Amino acid sequence: MQWIDIGVNLTHESFTPDRAEVIARARAAGVAQMIVTGADVEGSAAALHLARSYPHVLFATAGVHPHHAANLAAEELPRLRELLVQPEVVAVGECGLDYYRNFSPRDAQRRAFEWQLGLALESGKPLFLHQRDAHADFLAILRAQTSAPLRGVAHCFTGNADELEAYLALGLSVGITGWFCDERRGRHLGPLMSRIPAGRLLLETDAPYLLPRDLRSRPPTRRNEPMYLPHVGAAVAAARAESVTDCAAHSSAHARALFGLPEVRSVMAT
Ligand SMILES: [Zn+2]
Repeated sequence: MQWIDIGVNLTHESFTPDRAEVIARARAAGVAQMIVTGADVEGSAAALHLARSYPHVLFATAGVHPHHAANLAAEELPRLRELLVQPEVVAVGECGLDYYRNFSPRDAQRRAFEWQLGLALESGKPLFLHQRDAHADFLAILRAQTSAPLRGVAHCFTGNADELEAYLALGLSVGITGWFCDERRGRHLGPLMSRIPAGRLLLETDAPYLLPRDLRSRPPTRRNEPMYLPHVGAAVAAARAESVTDCAAHSSAHARALFGLPEVRSVMAT
């Protein structure tokens, strides 16, 4: 059984002391491949650098998170473009809109998002999308971009049934994190799990964030790690009334298809 973590912030400083061990633990737990999220231009370059140290195991995204949108100047687009042609960079993002925190002004967020949608069309790479409290603007911008089905993932999906249907109708895949394992705020997601077709469902930890709340032994640091992806996968499989093996198989096959990842041999002992 193999899992693929499509969203892990492995360049985060909390991983600096033991990054190699974190990656080794994940692989030993059956997480065969991981996509390292880039959240700004520097971070995307760092994600690429890290991915290159683990060929066929780590990959990277390149893009600018809406939190950092105000720092993205037009002069920096060539650097993003340069990152996006690298084979280890498998998606554009994370990009999108975040009106929950509004760390960047909304007009700057919309501009950065539109730029990156253009880069996705240009590079032919799928989108790694972030949206929080901005559904209407987010859909409007995506719909204005193209009438063709979109390739990409609505990462860390926490929305309602209407949002889910809208993403699926656009052609997008849906990324589920350990948010789902939080009985306080993830409960509404349960009934939605079976409405995501196999071949559209992707799994991610978003580590070091979103440590699953229902882990039997939670690390004292509360730092999430990609080794907990199978825990998220088992919860999702149960909600979908399918076997864990099936869930691992179709979510991994879809991650490989969408992001163009190669097959690898598992390091698991089983
Ligand atoms: Zn995000």
